[in-house]
Amino acid sequence: MLAARLYDSGPPRRLVLESIPDPAPRRGEVVVAVRAAGLCGTDLEMLDGLRLPPEVPWPIVPGHEVAGEVAAAGEDAGPWRPGDRVVVHPYVACGRCRSCLDGRQSACLAPELIGLTRLGGFAEKIAVPGVNLFRLPEGVPYTVGAILPDAVATPYHALVTRGELAPGQSVAIFGAGGVGTHGVLFAKMLGAHPVVVVVRRPAVAGRLRALGATVVVADAATNPVREIRRLTGGLGADLSVDFVGRSETVRACIGATRIGGRVVLVGVADEPLALPGSSYLVRREVELRAAFGATPQEIDVVIGLVASGRLDLSRSVSRERPLARIHEAVAILRDRPPDVVRVVLTMDAATTG
Ligand SMILES: [Zn+2]
Ligand SMILES: [Zn+2]
Repeated sequence: MLAARLYDSGPPRRLVLESIPDPAPRRGEVVVAVRAAGLCGTDLEMLDGLRLPPEVPWPIVPGHEVAGEVAAAGEDAGPWRPGDRVVVHPYVACGRCRSCLDGRQSACLAPELIGLTRLGGFAEKIAVPGVNLFRLPEGVPYTVGAILPDAVATPYHALVTRGELAPGQSVAIFGAGGVGTHGVLFAKMLGAHPVVVVVRRPAVAGRLRALGATVVVADAATNPVREIRRLTGGLGADLSVDFVGRSETVRACIGATRIGGRVVLVGVADEPLALPGSSYLVRREVELRAAFGATPQEIDVVIGLVASGRLDLSRSVSRERPLARIHEAVAILRDRPPDVVRVVLTMDAATTG
């Protein structure tokens, strides 16, 4: 089968399209014929030299946003039958550690990650544990299914579960890539007001306003903290969520939060965080929380919201490219055209079936 493999040669690392053996399902596993695989900012960072854990088996087949059709099921792999339309949860939790037993599967102490420590979805087929599959309802395209567990369920976990956002509350969102943009969709869906999103590039403002957000472009002339306070009657936001992970945005995120409000950190960056002084945090009684990934229960909810029509993702898949043109897809991700929310690779049923 065709796969894109990332080699740790160089720098730079190299992404090579090549033919590798088809996977066979082991006990508990299902082989999925991939129909769509989303590209994520993390894939670009991996390509650009992101430090990775030593247990990563090179070369990596990246791709952790995967949807497709069941091709074969191994022994004890659950209810899956060839032809079933499925979405893959990329996070393989052990199911036995204390975090898993506490219902925090996304904080599993011994996880495997599809597209990092396991072969990912930039390939025509992928072998995954049956328990990592979710049924993709008819009527939801594979391209949309692919982005649900990561780019959509992650902000759901951040805003709804960790952020406890309630109708009528104000929310400030820092960063509007694929994940942050879906955060805006959830905030609107929940009836938050105002939904303020802070971005760097004026060019992305249009597509965010179209979703109903109030956009603050943080430039030399605009202090986002002052703007958010102005937009929230001088108080600050009930909930602020950072999808960037750098000191500058995290500090602004905290400053933009009302006294006693909640700050949820989602974005990660390769730099230590410099936070405001302790007296500032203590006096404001701001609650600092962090959020990572999503649980299987949350992915079920997100799939249901899309299937019901309540969550409209029709503008989320901005570009599609066949796997054979993955380098073009990577170039789009690198250029970040302002209208792009997600870039998704597609695999033809004729070649993978
Ligand atoms: Zn991702
Ligand atoms: Zn675990």
